[in-house]
Amino acid sequence: VANASHELRTPLTSIRGFAETLVDGALAEPETSARVLAAILRQTKRLQRLAEDLASLARAESSEEPLPAATIALAAVARHVTPALGPFAGERGVRLRIEAPRRIVRAEANAEAIEQVLTNLVENAIKHEKPRGAVVIALSAALRIARSEVRDRGRGIAPEHHQRIFERFYRVDEGRSRTEATTAGTGLGLAIVKHLVQRMDGKVYAESRVGRGTTFVVELPRAPA
Ligand code: ADP
Repeated sequence: VANASHELRTPLTSIRGFAETLVDGALAEPETSARVLAAILRQTKRLQRLAEDLASLARAESSEEPLPAATIALAAVARHVTPALGPFAGERGVRLRIEAPRRIVRAEANAEAIEQVLTNLVENAIKHEKPRGAVVIALSAALRIARSEVRDRGRGIAPEHHQRIFERFYRVDEGRSRTEATTAGTGLGLAIVKHLVQRMDGKVYAESRVGRGTTFVVELPRAPA
């Protein structure tokens, strides 16, 4: 709660400051007003993301009980995720690709949760991928595991952060993510991912080389053939 209130305070302080600027006379200057209102809008969107992510995290953490599971074809879920994030990827000139083996990979899991997990991972990957690059969702199966990997070729994550990035509000590059209100994350995406995956009896971890890129691996129980 202390962290959450701290996170709320930053955009609220900005919005208050901008509103005061308007009240104190900037309203009379159309150009300044337009700039200040755009800044208010950016900060408001940030607050909205925070509220949404807090709600998702609360739902994910509300219980340790397994999520209702069914047999899910991973490629079908992946094909839902990519069009939804298409515009976001397009803005950054990043292509999205799904790589799946001929044999359908099926998990015994919760479709809605997998969709949220892949959405969060792909969104992160798009943010970190270099312009005109590609983000890949690669599916594969092992004996008892249905695996989804989300790969980017961005700046990577140093080994000392690999565990901590799954903590609530943890960000590797604190300063940067705070100031860029338009793209700044909430620091909650991976905490949501980890909880949902655990409630599907799965595992999630990052493999990365600094400067070369990152792969997030999600392992779920494979559905019996
Ligand atoms: P955020 O909302 O900040 O993205 P997340 O919980 O999704 O929060 O991620 C936590 C941190 O992990 C991010 O702030 C970022 O520093 C790092 N991170 C996540 N995904 C990637 C990635 N694909 N490449 C590099 N760093 C990443």
